[in-house]
Amino acid sequence: MNGAVGILSREFDPTAVLAEPLPPILGGREVNGVNEEEKGNGRRQIVLGRNVHTSCLEVTEPDADDELTGDKDAHMAGVLARYRKTLMERTKHHLGYPYNLDFDYGALAQLQHFSINNLGDPFIESNYGVHSRQFEVGVLDWFARLWEIEKTEYWGYITNCGTEGNLHGILVGREVLPDGILYASRESHYSIFKAARMYRMECVKVGTLVSGEIDCAHLKAKLLENKDKPAIINVNIGTTVKGAVDDLDFVIQTLEETGFTRDRFYIHCDGALFGLMMPFVKRAPKVSFKKPIGSVSVSGHKFVGCPMPCGVQITRLEHINALSRNVEYLASRDATIMGSRNGHAPIFLWYTLNKKGYKGFQKEVQKCLRNAHYLKDCLRWAGISAMLNELSSTVVFERPLDQEFVRRWQLACEGNIAHVVVMPNVTMEKLDVFLSELMEKRSVWYGEGREDPPCVAGEIGHENCCCGCGGLHK
Ligand SMILES: *Cc1c(COP(=O)(O)O)cnc(C)c1O
Repeated sequence: MNGAVGILSREFDPTAVLAEPLPPILGGREVNGVNEEEKGNGRRQIVLGRNVHTSCLEVTEPDADDELTGDKDAHMAGVLARYRKTLMERTKHHLGYPYNLDFDYGALAQLQHFSINNLGDPFIESNYGVHSRQFEVGVLDWFARLWEIEKTEYWGYITNCGTEGNLHGILVGREVLPDGILYASRESHYSIFKAARMYRMECVKVGTLVSGEIDCAHLKAKLLENKDKPAIINVNIGTTVKGAVDDLDFVIQTLEETGFTRDRFYIHCDGALFGLMMPFVKRAPKVSFKKPIGSVSVSGHKFVGCPMPCGVQITRLEHINALSRNVEYLASRDATIMGSRNGHAPIFLWYTLNKKGYKGFQKEVQKCLRNAHYLKDCLRWAGISAMLNELSSTVVFERPLDQEFVRRWQLACEGNIAHVVVMPNVTMEKLDVFLSELMEKRSVWYGEGREDPPCVAGEIGHENCCCGCGGLHK
């Protein structure tokens, strides 16, 4: 992006400004409400009820003569220039979260001056005229075609994030099957369990395979235990930590085998992570409304690459009538989770879908999978435990020993494992820099006589673990 920030560079040369340093990790002291423990490799412990404000940028009252002196404007411009520099540096060293940071929306900068709001239903014009519904519906049609549902049969909207898509999908499921039990694998995103709490639904956690996929044998057992209640099932099209893709066809088969007829189950597909990657991977189970699924959601700021959080949720029109209410004040229908909705997001999505097209996404998917294999192979050659699921660009490996390295590369960690999600902006060159830094650090962490790297056989399988345990200890 250049457009809007270009205004700044007329007066300020951001390259001449130092980036804000990363806030320090202080042993035993709190940074941003988080107690940094020295023990446990500096892993963070969050102390509830103690918010700390150390790195806060204070809002100050304007002085009476600010208009004349311009001091305040100069100060604020300086803060923004430094912030921009930090963003550039942090963008360069980002590997852990599945965000595609590679895009150029310069052409859309002209729209920043408008308060674009698509409140209400995308398909019903509200009285508020500064909206972008025409873009929104265009984007929704594109996704409907991708997931094989007729224009006349789907309903959907552009959400604020993948979580909102999940909250909506589960809600539709519950409205269609009010006494249904929610089934989700234990490696599902936390938003699924949040939905269960919010809607006070009975929720059954289903076990997973080492790959992170839902264990259909366990699902079957749980379904049989609860045969008297309908089933609302969350299927992961890419789990957050291991990038595992649940086998949608096998889940449907399991439902059939246990005697659940189509009117007694509802499937929501959480495609936040890979929803837009799987259609372009040959061997992947296809997400399609030709199968008995109820809804699919995807995040717009992940693989697609949007500069603000957003997402897409698509469901069947027949279901939405169970959920919606007319609202006279809006002159619209209320079927969304949020009221006001970001009207800029659909334009960003529309822009990037137009630019890239199916072919462009396919190329990017191939590049990501290739680079992910490269990273996994390099790690293994170097004797570092690592796993990469077949349909995934998420490389799971041993958690780096020190927190500073984790923070430098913004890795996501869970227990003894960390991951890198290879997105289109993660090039081989970037991976090489990361790998060489990791090797160098490891020789310090695990040099002669020091501790051993962690055993991760329990998390990623002994065939992927290089600690020498041979899978004996877990
Ligand atoms: C990221 C993610 C979500 C949530 O998406 P947000 O856009 O961050 O709200 C949900 N499910 C999975 C599998 C994810 O990876």
